[in-house]
Amino acid sequence: MSTLFGLNDVRPEALESARIAVLGYGSQGRAQALNLRDSGLDVHLGLRPGGSSWKEAETDNWAPVSVETAVVDADVVVVLVPDMAQPSVFESVVAPNLKAGALLLFAHGFNVHYGLLTPGTEVDVALVAPKAPGQRVRHEYLYGRGVPALLAVHQDATGRAQERALAYAHGIGSTRAGVLETSFSEETETDLFGEQAVLCGGVTELVVAGFETLVDAGYNPEVAYFECLHELKLIVDLLHEGGLARMHRFVSDTASFGDVTRGPQIVDSHVRSRLKDVLTEIQSGAFAREWCGEHSDGAHQFKDLVKADLAHPIETVGQRLRERMPWLKEAS
Ligand code: NDP
Ligand code: MG
Repeated sequence: MSTLFGLNDVRPEALESARIAVLGYGSQGRAQALNLRDSGLDVHLGLRPGGSSWKEAETDNWAPVSVETAVVDADVVVVLVPDMAQPSVFESVVAPNLKAGALLLFAHGFNVHYGLLTPGTEVDVALVAPKAPGQRVRHEYLYGRGVPALLAVHQDATGRAQERALAYAHGIGSTRAGVLETSFSEETETDLFGEQAVLCGGVTELVVAGFETLVDAGYNPEVAYFECLHELKLIVDLLHEGGLARMHRFVSDTASFGDVTRGPQIVDSHVRSRLKDVLTEIQSGAFAREWCGEHSDGAHQFKDLVKADLAHPIETVGQRLRERMPWLKEAS
């Protein structure tokens, strides 16, 4: 069993008077920077002058500086620009300005794990990966709660890497929910697998395939939308709150029976063997090479595929039905 750190394990003093540079003010950057500031830490934002997040940061009462300026003198540098931008930002402005003994932090192990970015041996390298999108990281913190996070140390130059990373996780609120110790390889490979096979890729394909099956069989698209997409959240909420037991408790016996008898027919041995294939491509680095290649070629295929995804009739049907439920927007 991995260690699960909580409020009693952290030494917040580990970051007392530490200067923290947060690079990037997107999904994670904004949430983490605001949480750290509200936790009383000394936070500085390093952004691109002229980029759209510079203005947003000013609106949130920050005084952003260039990435270079933020990194010089920083005791902790948190790299929260997109994964594909990290190697060049690191090479050009972070590495030349990073002081010895600093803690270099990531929210995902991708670049370090696949060797796309190699920090010098004089710095600590760790990751604190919140297990939620940025918006949720901020939302939970504001409610006095937190989202769970993974913590891993890749390189410990000072002997204080873990203690400082844990204090950082505490600053963003994650010790309230639990900080699980892992490795860069485990975080990276399971994160990619989760989003490809289950959370993003698997679920959306199943939703769309279910919708198409009903519509092709002559059922009303609106009814198919409610059934295959809208209601998913209600089931996911039950799973999130209390696992399979809570879901079985709250759905009808008919639904439970359909679940345990038909579910395994859908996710059969063919699907399981393809799950394994997806994992193998992640472990071998084949997926990482494909994504880096696609990105450096201008990401045309990626953009076309997303465009096709968004052109699906389920989007038109959904838009019309969601207009009647304005509170869905308020939740974001
Ligand atoms: P975003 O895409 O939201 O980051 C956007 C920010 O990065 C903006 O401030 C943008 O500035 C800046 N940026 C983009 N390119 C550059 C560049 N070349 N130089 C300097 N700044 C740049 O990133 P995420 O928050 O999604 O991801 C950050 C990290 O967090 C990644 O490692 C990701 O894997 C990890 N992570 C993300 C999660 C999520 O929920 N999104 C969940 C857990 C981990 P500008 O406005 O100037 O373009
Ligand atoms: Mg999809």
